[in-house]
Amino acid sequence: MTTVIDLRSDTVTKPTPAMRRAMAEAEVGDDVYGEDPTVNRLETLVAERLGKEAALFVPSGTMGNLICVLSHCGRGDEMLLGDQAHIFHYEQGGSAAVGGVHPRILPNCPDGTIDLQQLAGAIRGDDEHFPVTRLIALENTHNRCGGRVLPPEYIDAVGALAHARGLKLHIDGARLWNAAVALGESPARLVAAADSVSVCFSKGLAAPVGSAVAGPREFIRRARRMRKQVGGGMRQAGVLAAAAIVALEQMVDRLAEDHAHARRLAHGLANIDGIRIDPTTVETNIVYFDVVKPGWDAPKLSAALAAEGVRMNDTAPYRLRAVTHYEISAADIERTLTIVDAVLRT
Ligand SMILES: *Cc1c(COP(=O)(O)O)cnc(C)c1O
Repeated sequence: MTTVIDLRSDTVTKPTPAMRRAMAEAEVGDDVYGEDPTVNRLETLVAERLGKEAALFVPSGTMGNLICVLSHCGRGDEMLLGDQAHIFHYEQGGSAAVGGVHPRILPNCPDGTIDLQQLAGAIRGDDEHFPVTRLIALENTHNRCGGRVLPPEYIDAVGALAHARGLKLHIDGARLWNAAVALGESPARLVAAADSVSVCFSKGLAAPVGSAVAGPREFIRRARRMRKQVGGGMRQAGVLAAAAIVALEQMVDRLAEDHAHARRLAHGLANIDGIRIDPTTVETNIVYFDVVKPGWDAPKLSAALAAEGVRMNDTAPYRLRAVTHYEISAADIERTLTIVDAVLRT
């Protein structure tokens, strides 16, 4: 009996035994009244880890980003963000649909940054024709740019630009923990320049549900109202927060293993005939590669791999994505490489 090697996403991770125990034993209360001690403990812990005054537990990263954008911007205000941003591609256009916030996209460089000159040039002057630019949003690590890590100095420079021009900086840090581990920096250092941050517990950290946002106390007060407005006020959510606490305490440092597995996968793929990848761009747990063998495309390779028990998503006509996570072992990576090689020889 062989098990499936599921590299579609780090979202497929299931809660650990320690999480299930913590969930079963969690002290709970009504969190809308602020009376869930476990949620309160999680929010304090997240604020500490991120070096912010306060934090708020939310059901998903999408809701976290949405309530941050809505807390910074009013209807008709403009947000600057990368053309590969998760907020732009994968969140149902929520900030426009729910908040009337106008997204202005600028090209993401391959490393996930947005050129500083372009950002500076896109900030609107005071003119009755223009929307008011209020917010810059960055993403770290950058999902669609292959899990690239933004340099802390770059984030600081964007924050300085934003603040000099009266704007706010939001960081979508769904995989901020991966960025911190890859750089050997504290998560707080990476968001020092940000006015708000969203982070996730349910991807690489393996909690079943949950994200958080963090920022100044006054901002989090507004975000709490926004969370209620979009239906994210939860009651005895301590059963979920308990797993998130275990995620933060036990699952962050081990992300280094996922990164090593991703690098090994990338280097192995680079040696397979019919695959194109630059392994030097793999900095965390996300591996994008192209199939370049005549007669093959990404859906065909994805289906052929699935038939052999290896799951990866095709993300473009000739591009696939593999994401490593805590349920993937070094042996799984070697088996994956063997199967990719064998399948492409057929
Ligand atoms: C997954 C992800 C989100 C959204 O998180 P959900 O919990 O799936 O809503 C936001 N930003 C990035 C970069 C992500 O990878």
